[in-house]
Amino acid sequence: MLFDILTLFPSMFESAFAESIIRRALDRGLISINIDNIRRYATDRHRTVDDYPYGGDPGMLMMPEPLAAAIESARERQASLSPKVIFLSPQGDLLTQSVVKELLEEQCLILLCGRYKGIDQRIRERYVDREISIGDYVVSGGEIPAMVMVDAVTRLVPGVLGNRDSAERDSLYEGLLAPPQYTRPEVFEGMRVPDVLLSGHHANIRRWRREQAEKITRERRPDLWKRYTGRERCEDNTEKK
Ligand code: SAM
Repeated sequence: MLFDILTLFPSMFESAFAESIIRRALDRGLISINIDNIRRYATDRHRTVDDYPYGGDPGMLMMPEPLAAAIESARERQASLSPKVIFLSPQGDLLTQSVVKELLEEQCLILLCGRYKGIDQRIRERYVDREISIGDYVVSGGEIPAMVMVDAVTRLVPGVLGNRDSAERDSLYEGLLAPPQYTRPEVFEGMRVPDVLLSGHHANIRRWRREQAEKITRERRPDLWKRYTGRERCEDNTEKK
């Protein structure tokens, strides 16, 4: 998986990608990341990339020409990988775990990070394949959303996570929140680790984890629970047919 990130603030990514799981994935060649500064594609003496919006709204917008040139250049660089252009945007599809799994199917994602009041509409219409939001709130730029996306997708790239921290046990992988987890000591401030986890009885542990995951999802996220039980019913019906 190759991520080609287009941004006005390339140095924001340095520390985010320099540690832990992403660093290891890069070192082992399981993912690649290229970062390009959109300002390189500005054509005037001052390297201008923003301008006032038509219609008199306050704030500045990213101009279309440098964005178009940056995207064209990324498409050329990655032509052999059929890249998809993703614009990080609060108006996009929510980045759920199932969207993360869809993105994993791609060979190359060009991630376009907006700034200021956003980007000229014509770039969205002509150059963007998909808009993705990290949640129903607005942050100051697409850089942190792009880091979130790179991290979430990278965790699912085969070979990135070992058994130790496998993604299948994470919340939402199967549509449920993860069950509670405990480590040593067995008693902490008077609270004991549930007996079943100390029993060594694997079937009982599996059953307990599943019950806890279902309970927590039902209580905390009725929306996920509804989707999960709907899907289970569907799978039951398909099996019966
Ligand atoms: N005026 C824009 C709007 O209302 O849709 C928001 C602009 S925001 C201050 C600047 C940039 O941050 C956006 O162009 C986008 O790239 C990024 N951004 C902000 N919130 C985001 C979110 N929830 N998900 C993904 N990207 C976001």
